[in-house]
Amino acid sequence: MAGLSRRHFNTLVGASALSTLPLPAIATNHKAELPNPIGPRVVIVGGGWSGLSIAKYLGEADRNIDVVLIERRKFFHSLPLSNLWIGGLLPQSKLTYRFEDAAKLGGYTYFNASMTDLDRNKRRVETDQGWIDYDYLVLAPGVDYDYGSFGVKDPAAISALKNKYPAGFVSVEEQLSLIKQLDRFEKGIFVLTAPPGIYRCAASPYERACLIAATFKKRKLKAKVVLIDSREEPAVNGEGFLAAFEDLYGDVIEYRNSTGIEGVDPKSKTIKTDFDDIKFDGGAIYPRTRASTLIERFGLNDPESPQKEAKIDPFNYNVIGDERVYVTGDCRPMPFSKSASVANSEGKHVAKVIAARLQGREAKWVTPESVCYSMVNTRPQEAILSRSFYRFDSKTKQWAFDPKSKPYNIRSETFGREAHTWGDAHFRELFG
Ligand SMILES: Cc1cc2nc3c(=O)[nH]c(=O)nc-3n(C[C@H](O)[C@H](O)[C@H](O)COP(=O)(O)OP(=O)(O)OC[C@H]3O[C@@H](n4cnc5c(N)ncnc54)[C@H](O)[C@@H]3O)c2cc1C
Repeated sequence: MAGLSRRHFNTLVGASALSTLPLPAIATNHKAELPNPIGPRVVIVGGGWSGLSIAKYLGEADRNIDVVLIERRKFFHSLPLSNLWIGGLLPQSKLTYRFEDAAKLGGYTYFNASMTDLDRNKRRVETDQGWIDYDYLVLAPGVDYDYGSFGVKDPAAISALKNKYPAGFVSVEEQLSLIKQLDRFEKGIFVLTAPPGIYRCAASPYERACLIAATFKKRKLKAKVVLIDSREEPAVNGEGFLAAFEDLYGDVIEYRNSTGIEGVDPKSKTIKTDFDDIKFDGGAIYPRTRASTLIERFGLNDPESPQKEAKIDPFNYNVIGDERVYVTGDCRPMPFSKSASVANSEGKHVAKVIAARLQGREAKWVTPESVCYSMVNTRPQEAILSRSFYRFDSKTKQWAFDPKSKPYNIRSETFGREAHTWGDAHFRELFG
């Protein structure tokens, strides 16, 4: 398994810093420079956990399928385990990998470009590096932030929040900025927020509160982590997180539960809640998430969905009325955990669906699995765990947790070690 060295990473992050900005729909009038297809072509947009998993398992399902993975970034940065990097428990090189290695392992083509437009009649994807025709298309572009959800609509205020107090739930650039902010932080209130709805990685804001509090304790700072949550208790592993807050960080973490956010002013550094105003000195302010704006731009979102998620067949993932186009990963509308483990396990299923349909068959639905380790202690490294599976109740027409889902709330060093091995196993699976 080959992570990237710090030097190589710095070169790449410099080159790709702008690549996370939304691109205007630039029409190119040339075909992308790619090898001729060896068989039916499946184009996948987005080389995150979802796109990478589908690309790899399509190849395993049928070697005659020609897979092209379009990804705008020049290297892969893992969000899972990144709280450990932010908390100083893991080197950055453990999180960064080459798309070229993933493509070699899976026998597919990595195309470094940004998707800009879609013509479903022509079955054509437009990118800033030329157009590509597809037989099947998978859109797995992840999430964007919805700052409007806490009343912040002014573009200057959004930009100030993104730059000064980045949530750090989408890109490595945000996380680097958060690390710099934490390195400079000397005293006062560091604010974190757990957004409403189904947001990316349910456990992560609570894990991050623990890891930041641990570094404040280690540096003996006169500082506090204030975690604002509209829920009564943490979205996942409530018992385990509340025990960690109390036993390990009683004087450092203040958990503001049942508290809705009504506004954030980056200038006066104030969060207006439905209870009082909270002044902060630093923070990682995480707004509600929504499916990537690409999904809405191409008219594939469900108008009823508050998080603008895609309107798809929940078992086969194709856009309603179009079996050639699929939407996966954190853009899905089903209330599964927005996690890498769900994206990975669901990706294996979606690969089977497409491979089967190419042969005129259908694949049987299987539940995705969510596995989430949360490091709550650093000395020693102790974690808690949540594992979830899902089922569809055909009577109520609702999704529910499968009874074998379980939270493991007693923190342990065994789970602490497993958090690392879980990551290593997945990096090996996807990058070799
Ligand atoms: C701090 C943190 C900790 C986490 N911990 C865990 C954990 O312990 N366990 C777990 O299971 N999950 C965890 N997650 C959640 C997990 O990272 C996400 O659920 C997962 O990344 C979703 O995968 P995805 O492929 O849908 O989206 P992403 O991984 O975001 O991938 C989307 C990709 O699409 C690309 N893209 C977007 N638009 C375009 C375009 N126009 N053209 C080309 N490419 C484009 C992006 O560059 C990106 O690479 C964590 C997340 C965070 C932030």
